[in-house]
Amino acid sequence: MFELVFLGTSASAPSIQRGLPAQVVKHNQHRFLVDCGEGTQRQILESGLGFKKLNRILITHGHLDHILGIGGLVSTYLRWEAIDKLEIFGGTSALKRIADLLFKVVIRGINPPFPIDLIPIKKGVFIEESDFSISAFPVSHRGPDCYGFTFKERGRHPFLAEKAEQLKIPSGPWRRDLVAGKKVKLPDGRMIKPDQVLGEFQPGIKLVIVGDSGKTDNLVKACKDADALVIEGTYLQGEIEMARKYAHLTANDAAELAVQSNVKKLFLTHISRRYRAKDVQKEAREVFPNTNVVHDFDVFQIKKE
Ligand SMILES: [Zn+2]
Ligand SMILES: [Zn+2]
Repeated sequence: MFELVFLGTSASAPSIQRGLPAQVVKHNQHRFLVDCGEGTQRQILESGLGFKKLNRILITHGHLDHILGIGGLVSTYLRWEAIDKLEIFGGTSALKRIADLLFKVVIRGINPPFPIDLIPIKKGVFIEESDFSISAFPVSHRGPDCYGFTFKERGRHPFLAEKAEQLKIPSGPWRRDLVAGKKVKLPDGRMIKPDQVLGEFQPGIKLVIVGDSGKTDNLVKACKDADALVIEGTYLQGEIEMARKYAHLTANDAAELAVQSNVKKLFLTHISRRYRAKDVQKEAREVFPNTNVVHDFDVFQIKKE
């Protein structure tokens, strides 16, 4: 299961109700901040998440509405030393801008009390944990090096306790090894193979987060069969020329992508001040009913239904 906490859901500039883009993805003890618009540190406080262990930041692209908050956040980390290292992942041009912000302004001339690593990403897996991975895929927006992210739990064969009981497999290391896919020899001499006690393969949860995007045809494959897709819905179809001009999507574009890629749930964010959320939601739901236009501090659990 992944938990998704929206911290900022506005496009370009904040509104009274919406902060600039930022969201946190949680998986067990792991926490990832995806984008960090201005004011994100205050949103983190208000959400109750706190700063502890929030030391991996993934950046979709280098536009200021998605990165300016890194300056304030790092400034606070410098004072409070809430973390022992900071890793920021993004495309090279986004990282260059972030490096200027951090090393020319925020921490100019001082030695930070913890290492700050700016880690360039390319298409493919860039974080691998024991039970999930995060990969990047290219997104077309204004400027180079824009990325979307796929959070994917490792699939597994569930352990069938009743089968283990029938086979009189004692509890202890034998069961653990069977779950790990190893053949075991029981104390009574019988050999047991994993497929005798494991069920059919169940794919893990897939959560896809796309930042700003000017088109969707190159995203269908990356979004395929996702349990949830988070993507921008900056414009309505009535202003599609504006959307195309600034390389953004309409709510209708995002909803059509959700249909084409067979995703289960769609979350629209990066909401423009020019529209009411309910109008954005209405346009998307006409194409893809399971759409939510999200608000700051919305929390969703992404799990198998
Ligand atoms: Zn943006
Ligand atoms: Zn942008």
